[in-house]
Amino acid sequence: MLRTAILAAAGHPTVERLVTTASVAQNLVARYVAGDQVEDAVRVTRDLIADGLTVTLDRLGEDTTDEAAAAATTAGYTGLLEALAAAGVAPPAEVSVKLSAVGQRLDPKLATENARKICQAAAAIGTTVTLDMEDHTTTDLTLDTLTALRADYPQTGAVLQAYLRRTETDCRDLAVAGSRVRLCKGAYAEPESVGFETALDVDRSYVRCLNVLMAGDGYPMLATHDPRLIAIGEERARWYDRTPDSFEFQMLHGVRPDEQRRLAREGYTVRIYLPFGPDWYPYLMRRLAERPAYVALFARSLVSS
Ligand code: FAD
Repeated sequence: MLRTAILAAAGHPTVERLVTTASVAQNLVARYVAGDQVEDAVRVTRDLIADGLTVTLDRLGEDTTDEAAAAATTAGYTGLLEALAAAGVAPPAEVSVKLSAVGQRLDPKLATENARKICQAAAAIGTTVTLDMEDHTTTDLTLDTLTALRADYPQTGAVLQAYLRRTETDCRDLAVAGSRVRLCKGAYAEPESVGFETALDVDRSYVRCLNVLMAGDGYPMLATHDPRLIAIGEERARWYDRTPDSFEFQMLHGVRPDEQRRLAREGYTVRIYLPFGPDWYPYLMRRLAERPAYVALFARSLVSS
Protein backbone atom coordinates (compact mmCIF):
# COMPACT_ATOMS: atom_id res chain seq x y z
CA MET A 1 0.00 0.00 0.00
CA LEU A 2 2.76 2.42 0.99
CA ARG A 3 4.54 1.44 -2.19
CA THR A 4 1.52 2.40 -4.32
CA ALA A 5 1.14 5.69 -2.41
CA ILE A 6 4.81 6.59 -2.99
CA LEU A 7 4.56 5.80 -6.69
CA ALA A 8 1.35 7.86 -6.98
CA ALA A 9 2.87 10.83 -5.08
CA ALA A 10 5.98 10.68 -7.30
CA GLY A 11 4.01 12.20 -10.19
CA HIS A 12 3.12 15.33 -8.20
CA PRO A 13 5.28 18.39 -9.11
CA THR A 14 5.49 19.55 -5.45
CA VAL A 15 6.83 16.16 -4.37
CA GLU A 16 9.32 16.23 -7.23
CA ARG A 17 10.53 19.70 -6.19
CA LEU A 18 10.87 18.65 -2.52
CA VAL A 19 12.76 15.46 -3.33
CA THR A 20 15.09 16.86 -5.97
CA THR A 21 16.18 19.72 -3.69
CA ALA A 22 16.61 17.60 -0.53
CA SER A 23 20.22 16.90 0.45
CA VAL A 24 19.29 13.38 1.59
CA ALA A 25 18.28 12.66 -2.04
CA GLN A 26 21.85 13.35 -3.18
CA ASN A 27 23.17 10.65 -0.81
CA LEU A 28 20.68 8.10 -2.08
CA VAL A 29 21.33 9.02 -5.71
CA ALA A 30 25.06 8.51 -5.09
CA ARG A 31 24.23 5.02 -3.79
CA TYR A 32 22.12 3.95 -6.77
CA VAL A 33 23.49 5.97 -9.74
CA ALA A 34 27.01 5.93 -11.26
CA GLY A 35 27.07 9.71 -11.84
CA ASP A 36 25.91 12.26 -14.41
CA GLN A 37 28.37 11.65 -17.24
CA VAL A 38 29.35 8.83 -19.63
CA GLU A 39 32.84 8.95 -18.05
CA ASP A 40 31.30 8.14 -14.64
CA ALA A 41 29.41 5.21 -16.16
CA VAL A 42 32.56 3.85 -17.84
CA ARG A 43 34.62 4.22 -14.64
CA VAL A 44 32.09 2.39 -12.43
CA THR A 45 31.61 -0.29 -15.12
CA ARG A 46 35.35 -0.90 -15.15
CA ASP A 47 35.40 -1.20 -11.32
CA LEU A 48 32.47 -3.66 -11.28
CA ILE A 49 34.07 -5.82 -13.98
CA ALA A 50 37.35 -5.80 -12.01
CA ASP A 51 35.31 -7.18 -9.08
CA GLY A 52 34.17 -10.18 -11.16
CA LEU A 53 30.71 -8.77 -12.03
CA THR A 54 29.25 -7.74 -15.35
CA VAL A 55 27.03 -4.77 -16.21
CA THR A 56 23.97 -3.50 -18.07
CA LEU A 57 23.91 0.30 -18.34
CA ASP A 58 20.79 2.45 -18.20
CA ARG A 59 21.06 6.02 -19.54
CA LEU A 60 18.48 7.59 -17.21
CA GLY A 61 15.44 9.24 -18.81
CA GLU A 62 11.92 8.12 -19.72
CA ASP A 63 8.60 9.37 -21.08
CA THR A 64 10.17 11.43 -23.84
CA THR A 65 7.59 13.79 -25.32
CA ASP A 66 9.18 14.96 -28.55
CA GLU A 67 10.99 13.49 -31.51
CA ALA A 68 14.15 15.55 -31.06
CA ALA A 69 14.55 14.34 -27.46
CA ALA A 70 13.99 10.72 -28.59
CA ALA A 71 16.70 11.17 -31.24
CA ALA A 72 19.05 12.71 -28.66
CA THR A 73 18.51 9.73 -26.32
CA THR A 74 19.23 7.34 -29.19
CA ALA A 75 22.45 9.21 -30.02
CA GLY A 76 23.31 9.20 -26.29
CA TYR A 77 23.09 5.40 -26.29
CA THR A 78 25.17 4.94 -29.45
CA GLY A 79 27.79 7.33 -27.99
CA LEU A 80 27.76 5.35 -24.74
CA LEU A 81 28.34 2.09 -26.62
CA GLU A 82 31.30 3.64 -28.46
CA ALA A 83 32.78 4.85 -25.15
CA LEU A 84 32.34 1.41 -23.56
CA ALA A 85 34.00 -0.29 -26.55
CA ALA A 86 36.87 2.23 -26.51
CA ALA A 87 37.40 1.47 -22.79
CA GLY A 88 37.46 -2.28 -23.57
CA VAL A 89 34.48 -3.05 -21.29
CA ALA A 90 31.76 -3.82 -23.87
CA PRO A 91 31.40 -6.70 -24.20
CA PRO A 92 30.84 -7.91 -21.49
CA ALA A 93 28.86 -4.76 -20.56
CA GLU A 94 25.59 -4.24 -22.47
CA VAL A 95 22.84 -1.59 -22.32
CA SER A 96 19.24 -1.51 -21.06
CA VAL A 97 16.80 0.76 -22.92
CA LYS A 98 13.37 2.09 -21.94
CA LEU A 99 11.28 2.40 -25.09
CA SER A 100 9.48 5.42 -23.59
CA ALA A 101 12.86 7.21 -23.63
CA VAL A 102 13.18 6.73 -27.39
CA GLY A 103 9.63 7.80 -28.28
CA GLN A 104 7.19 4.94 -27.53
CA ARG A 105 4.50 7.30 -26.21
CA LEU A 106 4.79 9.50 -29.30
CA ASP A 107 4.86 6.74 -31.89
CA PRO A 108 5.72 3.07 -31.23
CA LYS A 109 7.16 2.73 -34.77
CA LEU A 110 9.56 5.61 -34.10
CA ALA A 111 10.63 3.95 -30.82
CA THR A 112 11.23 0.65 -32.62
CA GLU A 113 13.37 2.37 -35.26
CA ASN A 114 15.37 4.24 -32.59
CA ALA A 115 15.85 1.02 -30.61
CA ARG A 116 16.98 -0.67 -33.85
CA LYS A 117 19.77 1.93 -34.20
CA ILE A 118 20.91 1.14 -30.66
CA CYS A 119 20.81 -2.63 -31.39
CA GLN A 120 22.85 -2.03 -34.55
CA ALA A 121 25.48 -0.05 -32.60
CA ALA A 122 25.58 -2.75 -29.91
CA ALA A 123 25.92 -5.58 -32.46
CA ALA A 124 28.75 -3.68 -34.21
CA ILE A 125 30.85 -3.92 -31.02
CA GLY A 126 29.72 -7.47 -30.17
CA THR A 127 27.33 -6.71 -27.34
CA THR A 128 23.59 -6.70 -26.64
CA VAL A 129 20.57 -4.60 -25.70
CA THR A 130 17.83 -5.46 -23.20
CA LEU A 131 14.48 -3.68 -23.47
CA ASP A 132 13.38 -2.61 -19.97
CA MET A 133 9.69 -3.16 -19.21
CA GLU A 134 7.58 -0.21 -18.03
CA ASP A 135 3.97 -0.09 -16.84
CA HIS A 136 1.39 -2.64 -18.06
CA THR A 137 -0.10 -0.29 -20.70
CA THR A 138 3.13 -0.75 -22.67
CA THR A 139 3.68 -4.52 -22.30
CA ASP A 140 2.17 -5.56 -25.65
CA LEU A 141 3.83 -2.71 -27.54
CA THR A 142 7.21 -3.53 -25.98
CA LEU A 143 6.88 -7.24 -26.79
CA ASP A 144 5.90 -6.32 -30.39
CA THR A 145 9.05 -4.19 -30.65
CA LEU A 146 11.07 -7.07 -29.20
CA THR A 147 9.74 -9.42 -31.91
CA ALA A 148 10.58 -6.88 -34.64
CA LEU A 149 14.11 -6.33 -33.30
CA ARG A 150 14.83 -10.01 -32.72
CA ALA A 151 14.25 -10.69 -36.44
CA ASP A 152 17.55 -8.86 -37.08
CA TYR A 153 19.14 -8.92 -33.61
CA PRO A 154 18.03 -12.23 -32.04
CA GLN A 155 20.13 -11.60 -28.93
CA THR A 156 17.94 -8.62 -27.88
CA GLY A 157 16.74 -9.20 -24.31
CA ALA A 158 13.22 -8.87 -22.87
CA VAL A 159 12.02 -8.09 -19.34
CA LEU A 160 8.98 -9.78 -17.80
CA GLN A 161 7.39 -8.70 -14.50
CA ALA A 162 6.17 -11.40 -12.10
CA TYR A 163 3.56 -9.05 -10.59
CA LEU A 164 1.50 -9.18 -13.80
CA ARG A 165 -1.04 -12.00 -14.09
CA ARG A 166 -0.16 -12.50 -17.77
CA THR A 167 3.55 -13.10 -17.19
CA GLU A 168 3.61 -16.87 -16.74
CA THR A 169 2.11 -17.17 -20.24
CA ASP A 170 4.62 -14.64 -21.61
CA CYS A 171 7.42 -16.70 -20.03
CA ARG A 172 6.20 -19.81 -21.85
CA ASP A 173 6.21 -17.89 -25.15
CA LEU A 174 9.74 -16.59 -24.59
CA ALA A 175 11.42 -19.67 -23.04
CA VAL A 176 12.79 -20.61 -26.46
CA ALA A 177 16.27 -21.10 -27.87
CA GLY A 178 18.19 -17.85 -28.35
CA SER A 179 15.84 -15.77 -26.23
CA ARG A 180 17.19 -13.72 -23.29
CA VAL A 181 14.60 -12.94 -20.60
CA ARG A 182 15.09 -10.86 -17.45
CA LEU A 183 12.57 -11.85 -14.79
CA CYS A 184 11.87 -9.18 -12.14
CA LYS A 185 9.02 -8.60 -9.67
CA GLY A 186 7.96 -5.29 -11.30
CA ALA A 187 8.40 -1.69 -10.13
CA TYR A 188 5.25 0.23 -11.18
CA ALA A 189 1.83 0.75 -9.52
CA GLU A 190 -0.55 -1.63 -11.31
CA PRO A 191 -4.32 -2.16 -10.86
CA GLU A 192 -5.62 -5.43 -9.42
CA SER A 193 -7.25 -6.24 -12.77
CA VAL A 194 -3.80 -6.93 -14.24
CA GLY A 195 -1.50 -7.42 -11.27
CA PHE A 196 -1.20 -9.51 -8.12
CA GLU A 197 -1.92 -7.48 -5.00
CA THR A 198 0.04 -9.17 -2.23
CA ALA A 199 3.79 -9.65 -1.91
CA LEU A 200 3.21 -13.37 -1.36
CA ASP A 201 1.27 -13.72 -4.62
CA VAL A 202 4.00 -11.83 -6.49
CA ASP A 203 6.66 -14.12 -5.00
CA ARG A 204 4.65 -17.23 -5.93
CA SER A 205 4.27 -15.93 -9.48
CA TYR A 206 8.03 -15.24 -9.58
CA VAL A 207 8.75 -18.87 -8.67
CA ARG A 208 6.31 -20.22 -11.31
CA CYS A 209 7.88 -17.97 -13.96
CA LEU A 210 11.42 -18.85 -12.83
CA ASN A 211 10.55 -22.55 -13.19
CA VAL A 212 9.28 -22.01 -16.74
CA LEU A 213 12.37 -20.05 -17.76
CA MET A 214 14.92 -22.32 -16.09
CA ALA A 215 13.27 -25.44 -17.57
CA GLY A 216 13.09 -23.85 -21.03
CA ASP A 217 15.62 -23.35 -23.82
CA GLY A 218 16.32 -19.63 -23.45
CA TYR A 219 18.81 -17.67 -21.33
CA PRO A 220 17.11 -16.67 -18.03
CA MET A 221 18.27 -13.50 -16.26
CA LEU A 222 17.02 -13.68 -12.66
CA ALA A 223 16.75 -10.05 -11.48
CA THR A 224 16.04 -9.99 -7.76
CA HIS A 225 17.65 -9.19 -4.40
CA ASP A 226 15.20 -11.40 -2.52
CA PRO A 227 17.26 -14.02 -0.61
CA ARG A 228 14.55 -16.71 -0.90
CA LEU A 229 14.17 -16.25 -4.66
CA ILE A 230 17.94 -16.24 -5.17
CA ALA A 231 18.18 -19.52 -3.22
CA ILE A 232 15.40 -21.01 -5.38
CA GLY A 233 17.26 -19.81 -8.49
CA GLU A 234 20.45 -21.56 -7.31
CA GLU A 235 18.48 -24.74 -6.57
CA ARG A 236 16.75 -24.75 -9.98
CA ALA A 237 20.12 -24.22 -11.68
CA ARG A 238 21.21 -27.52 -10.12
CA TRP A 239 17.92 -29.30 -11.01
CA TYR A 240 18.11 -28.22 -14.64
CA ASP A 241 21.90 -28.59 -15.01
CA ARG A 242 22.28 -24.93 -15.88
CA THR A 243 25.97 -24.02 -16.26
CA PRO A 244 27.10 -20.45 -15.32
CA ASP A 245 27.10 -19.47 -19.00
CA SER A 246 23.47 -20.54 -19.50
CA PHE A 247 21.73 -18.13 -17.09
CA GLU A 248 22.60 -15.18 -14.86
CA PHE A 249 21.60 -13.32 -11.73
CA GLN A 250 21.01 -9.57 -11.98
CA MET A 251 20.87 -6.89 -9.27
CA LEU A 252 20.68 -3.12 -9.08
CA HIS A 253 23.82 -1.06 -8.44
CA GLY A 254 23.94 -0.18 -4.74
CA VAL A 255 21.58 -2.93 -3.56
CA ARG A 256 23.04 -5.88 -1.60
CA PRO A 257 26.61 -5.43 -2.95
CA ASP A 258 27.95 -8.17 -0.65
CA GLU A 259 25.47 -10.67 -2.06
CA GLN A 260 26.42 -9.63 -5.61
CA ARG A 261 30.03 -10.49 -4.86
CA ARG A 262 29.18 -13.70 -2.98
CA LEU A 263 27.28 -15.04 -6.00
CA ALA A 264 30.15 -14.07 -8.33
CA ARG A 265 32.63 -15.86 -6.04
CA GLU A 266 30.41 -18.96 -6.17
CA GLY A 267 30.98 -18.93 -9.94
CA TYR A 268 27.63 -17.48 -11.08
CA THR A 269 27.38 -14.79 -13.73
CA VAL A 270 26.12 -11.64 -11.94
CA ARG A 271 25.11 -8.58 -13.97
CA ILE A 272 24.67 -5.21 -12.28
CA TYR A 273 22.07 -2.75 -13.60
CA LEU A 274 23.96 0.53 -13.59
CA PRO A 275 22.04 3.77 -14.20
CA PHE A 276 23.73 7.06 -14.95
CA GLY A 277 22.72 10.58 -16.01
CA PRO A 278 21.07 13.61 -14.44
CA ASP A 279 17.42 12.50 -14.93
CA TRP A 280 17.37 10.29 -11.82
CA TYR A 281 14.06 11.37 -10.21
CA PRO A 282 11.63 8.62 -11.43
CA TYR A 283 14.30 5.93 -10.93
CA LEU A 284 14.96 7.08 -7.35
CA MET A 285 11.23 7.15 -6.55
CA ARG A 286 10.83 3.52 -7.69
CA ARG A 287 13.77 2.55 -5.45
CA LEU A 288 12.23 4.47 -2.53
CA ALA A 289 8.93 2.64 -3.06
CA GLU A 290 10.81 -0.66 -2.65
CA ARG A 291 12.43 0.55 0.55
CA PRO A 292 9.87 2.41 2.70
CA ALA A 293 12.49 2.80 5.50
CA TYR A 294 14.13 5.43 3.29
CA VAL A 295 10.86 7.38 3.14
CA ALA A 296 10.98 7.89 6.91
CA LEU A 297 14.58 9.08 6.53
CA PHE A 298 13.41 11.51 3.86
CA ALA A 299 10.48 12.78 5.92
CA ARG A 300 12.75 13.43 8.94
CA SER A 301 15.30 15.30 6.86
CA LEU A 302 12.62 17.47 5.19
CA VAL A 303 11.12 18.40 8.59
CA SER A 304 14.50 19.29 10.08
CA SER A 305 15.71 21.32 7.05
P1 FAD B 1 12.03 -7.09 -2.85
O1 FAD B 1 11.12 -7.95 -2.06
O2 FAD B 1 11.57 -5.72 -3.23
O3 FAD B 1 13.41 -6.92 -2.09
C1 FAD B 1 14.09 -8.00 -1.48
C2 FAD B 1 15.20 -7.42 -0.61
O4 FAD B 1 16.16 -6.74 -1.44
C3 FAD B 1 14.73 -6.35 0.36
O5 FAD B 1 14.28 -6.91 1.57
C4 FAD B 1 15.99 -5.52 0.55
O6 FAD B 1 16.90 -6.17 1.42
C5 FAD B 1 16.58 -5.53 -0.82
N1 FAD B 1 16.12 -4.40 -1.65
C6 FAD B 1 15.21 -4.44 -2.66
N2 FAD B 1 15.08 -3.22 -3.23
C7 FAD B 1 15.91 -2.40 -2.56
C8 FAD B 1 16.23 -1.01 -2.68
N3 FAD B 1 15.66 -0.24 -3.62
N4 FAD B 1 17.13 -0.48 -1.83
C9 FAD B 1 17.73 -1.24 -0.89
N5 FAD B 1 17.48 -2.57 -0.72
C10 FAD B 1 16.57 -3.13 -1.54
N6 FAD B 1 11.35 -3.44 -12.79
C11 FAD B 1 10.55 -3.18 -13.84
O7 FAD B 1 9.35 -2.97 -13.65
N7 FAD B 1 11.07 -3.15 -15.12
C12 FAD B 1 12.37 -3.42 -15.39
O8 FAD B 1 12.78 -3.39 -16.56
C13 FAD B 1 13.23 -3.73 -14.29
N8 FAD B 1 14.53 -4.02 -14.49
C14 FAD B 1 15.27 -4.46 -13.42
C15 FAD B 1 16.59 -4.87 -13.63
C16 FAD B 1 17.31 -5.41 -12.59
C17 FAD B 1 18.69 -5.92 -12.85
C18 FAD B 1 16.73 -5.51 -11.28
C19 FAD B 1 17.48 -6.11 -10.13
C20 FAD B 1 15.47 -5.04 -11.05
C21 FAD B 1 14.75 -4.48 -12.10
N9 FAD B 1 13.45 -4.00 -11.89
C22 FAD B 1 12.66 -3.71 -12.97
C23 FAD B 1 12.97 -3.75 -10.50
C24 FAD B 1 12.22 -4.93 -9.95
O9 FAD B 1 11.00 -5.09 -10.63
C25 FAD B 1 11.94 -4.74 -8.44
O10 FAD B 1 11.18 -3.59 -8.24
C26 FAD B 1 13.19 -4.65 -7.59
O11 FAD B 1 14.20 -5.50 -8.05
C27 FAD B 1 12.87 -5.07 -6.13
O12 FAD B 1 12.40 -6.38 -6.09
P2 FAD B 1 13.21 -7.62 -5.44
O13 FAD B 1 13.01 -8.79 -6.33
O14 FAD B 1 14.61 -7.24 -5.17
O15 FAD B 1 12.41 -7.97 -4.12
